[in-house]
Amino acid sequence: MIEDESIYITRPLLPNLNDVYDKLKDVWESKWLTNSGPQEDYLKEELKQYLQVENLSLFNNGTSALLLGLRALKLTGEVITTPFTFPATVQALDWNNLTPIFCDIDPATLTLDAAKIEPLITEKTTAILGVHTFGNPCDVEQIQLIANKYNLKVIYDGAHTFGTKLNNIPIGNYGDMTMFSFHATKLFNTVEGGALTFRDNSLVGRLSLLKNFGIANPEEVVLSGLNAKLNEIQAVIGLEVLKLVETERKKRHKIKRAYESCLKDVPGINVLTKLEDECSSYQYFVIQIDEELYGKSRDWLHEKLKEYNVFTRKYFFPLCSDFEWYQHLESACKENLPIANKTVTQVLALPYYGELQLESVEKICKVIRDSI
Ligand SMILES: *Cc1c(COP(=O)(O)O)cnc(C)c1O
Repeated sequence: MIEDESIYITRPLLPNLNDVYDKLKDVWESKWLTNSGPQEDYLKEELKQYLQVENLSLFNNGTSALLLGLRALKLTGEVITTPFTFPATVQALDWNNLTPIFCDIDPATLTLDAAKIEPLITEKTTAILGVHTFGNPCDVEQIQLIANKYNLKVIYDGAHTFGTKLNNIPIGNYGDMTMFSFHATKLFNTVEGGALTFRDNSLVGRLSLLKNFGIANPEEVVLSGLNAKLNEIQAVIGLEVLKLVETERKKRHKIKRAYESCLKDVPGINVLTKLEDECSSYQYFVIQIDEELYGKSRDWLHEKLKEYNVFTRKYFFPLCSDFEWYQHLESACKENLPIANKTVTQVLALPYYGELQLESVEKICKVIRDSI
């Protein structure tokens, strides 16, 4: 066993403390800490430009953004979604009393398999909720065709696709709505935070109400909302972190290349995050381990790397369709989700962040290669 410094799965992108301090002085002087302050407004405008979208609303985290976005669309009944995602995606449905109908995933992109959506549509279906898994965009064109045919809304969990473009179109412009997460572990962060981008201008007012208790003015509360506002301190952090994102993407691009060249000849190891350059969010670096070809399982490799103080993550694990409270759903049965059930035993997210040293990448890859 090599006694060495630990290598973690990610490190947050942190701005220069002095730059944050200068901006915080403005906040202190204004004594305006939250509720549609000027910093929130600056950040909103910067993000609209960066993500190249018409409409954007900020939230205290990605989960409440998605939860209230679904609410704003007034969905009912059933929503077709993927079991291979972070719990937040399906829990946002739960909190809206919407039933997830699990659809299997495409083995190459690990996003919703568009060819399997249509048979799941019933008279209760009101929307399709796709996840751009590990930065791989969903089959947005096929999904939109199905949605148009059955008059369904399309919502994307874009937590892994900050800055991603598809066919030269910024990803937040697809579907009716896209959620972004600005959690500390995401490429762009506001410590905690999130946003919705959306097509329908008329949702601007409704989303503002929903994230502030439905308070329309000092005299009137017009709907049942929540407290889901992004505060001024979060906005300040975001404004400074945003300046670092392009450099971080370039660093991550180099690291991705280094991983890929070290791993390209290893039988049974497949790199899942494929997009490059301006198309990619460089959010994660995820591999898939085919036990038959590689000779060892994902779980074995996860433990082996730990011996070298390399901390990887079985991401996503467990499958959302295995949650105890969905066991009554037919769509959650293992037989209906063969690809998702296989994938969940094979994926491993490797350490990935701009400051990761190339020697560390080599060390990690050596453990993977020498384990055959
Ligand atoms: C991070 C993440 C979320 C949750 O976002 P928060 O900002 O932490 O609430 C939702 N979905 C996916 C796919 C994520 O990776």
